[in-house]
Amino acid sequence: MQEDLRLFHQIAEKLFQEEETEPVVKPIPADQVYDEFNLHLNEEGISQDEFAELIEKVVLNTPRTSSKLFFNQLFGGRNSKATLGELLAVLLNTSMYTYKVGGPQVGIEKAILQEVCKLINYPENAGGTFAPGGSMSNFMALLMARDVADQHIKKEGISKKMTLYTSAESHYSTQKNASFAGIGTQQIRKIATDDLGKMIPAEFEKQVQQDIADGYTPFFVNITAGTTVLGAFDKIEALDEIAKKYKIWSHVDGAYCGAVLFSEKYKHLIEGVENVDSFSFNAHKMLNTPLSSSIIVTKNRFNLHHTFACDANYLYQTDGDDFNLGKTSLQCGRRNDALKFWSLWKSVGTKGLEKMVDHQFDLAETARNYIKNNEDYTLYSYDESVSVCFNYKDLDPKVLCNLLYEEAKLMIGYGNFKGRDFVRLVTVNSNNSDKEIVNFFKVLEKFAVQLEAQQV
Ligand SMILES: *Cc1c(COP(=O)(O)O)cnc(C)c1O
Repeated sequence: MQEDLRLFHQIAEKLFQEEETEPVVKPIPADQVYDEFNLHLNEEGISQDEFAELIEKVVLNTPRTSSKLFFNQLFGGRNSKATLGELLAVLLNTSMYTYKVGGPQVGIEKAILQEVCKLINYPENAGGTFAPGGSMSNFMALLMARDVADQHIKKEGISKKMTLYTSAESHYSTQKNASFAGIGTQQIRKIATDDLGKMIPAEFEKQVQQDIADGYTPFFVNITAGTTVLGAFDKIEALDEIAKKYKIWSHVDGAYCGAVLFSEKYKHLIEGVENVDSFSFNAHKMLNTPLSSSIIVTKNRFNLHHTFACDANYLYQTDGDDFNLGKTSLQCGRRNDALKFWSLWKSVGTKGLEKMVDHQFDLAETARNYIKNNEDYTLYSYDESVSVCFNYKDLDPKVLCNLLYEEAKLMIGYGNFKGRDFVRLVTVNSNNSDKEIVNFFKVLEKFAVQLEAQQV
């Protein structure tokens, strides 16, 4: 192990250097990846020297998602404490299904869940778990809702048409999950959004009434806290009130921006979250924890047990259900996704997490101001969002983003809202300062000049 740890250290040092000097690597076209690297597996192993050389080459040619020019998805940056926690979790190789195997690591997962429940003012008998990502957190919520609507489904399967509701701007996991859960994608009702990308409560209620009249059973509403493109927050209170009226499970998908719960200044964006049936957020997005670290909490932990607990006497042999987290999990063997988030949280405190969240909104403000003060730009976003959507001159955002990638200038993506395409800058890397945000625009502008020169 020692030799490989030295190799790890050596490669890490090189990577850190290169992230500084060359924040974006030149991409290798997918159809050339096997020509470029010796990736195929063979009968015989390779020598340590060959191995060291090869793995270093692969690492140094992998897209640099932690650099200051990566803005492509809703994660970024490298938090050193969280990364340390992750490295130790790998070293320990704990499986988080029982206390017998997890020991204090289970205590760590439970401590996080308890504190999250407390911070959102959930009642005493709330509970939660770490899921393998935000999509799977949403899946767990959907399954709990399904089993609350009809407690016999677990055993007998679905026998009626059950409808669920989500905004037209919500994440695509709803589609997958409706099919996984046996609900069927046809039973998804995509509710229209207003000009800010928020689900319109009156439209939601109208659709529920229509479905009841048509003989369907409405059972689940997915409320988004930070839509994937615009970063819009649905109005939780208004939607939850309607949900309660029709006995519909309300879930808040905060995968992207649910971490506002840590901020005094921004937690009003999830006002009313204490009343919903379940809430999830990704520490691997706004909280810069390595992928993946996703948390779902539910107001009544009985629901987690009802939907997910199965007996397995070859596994659950000691310590009781409260400390045997496999009983409330999608998986059997469970990766330790808690230690990395705990390492960060414990070292900076809740106040430190608040600073990270507030800082990201400040960075977005800087970006919006830059755009507003420069008439070559058109802004599509609004205040209180960490997604800054814009266009530059009359450049096609798709062409621009793809060329920036191919030419290794910037990692940035585009989005679409109400028929308009635009560049989407996400300011979720807490290591960035205003300087990096301004630099982002300068890199983009410089590239645009080159592009124009080529076209003439
Ligand atoms: C990212 C995202 C998800 C999915 O989370 P994963 O961890 O990538 O599965 C779900 N909902 C929203 C709103 C998201 O932005």
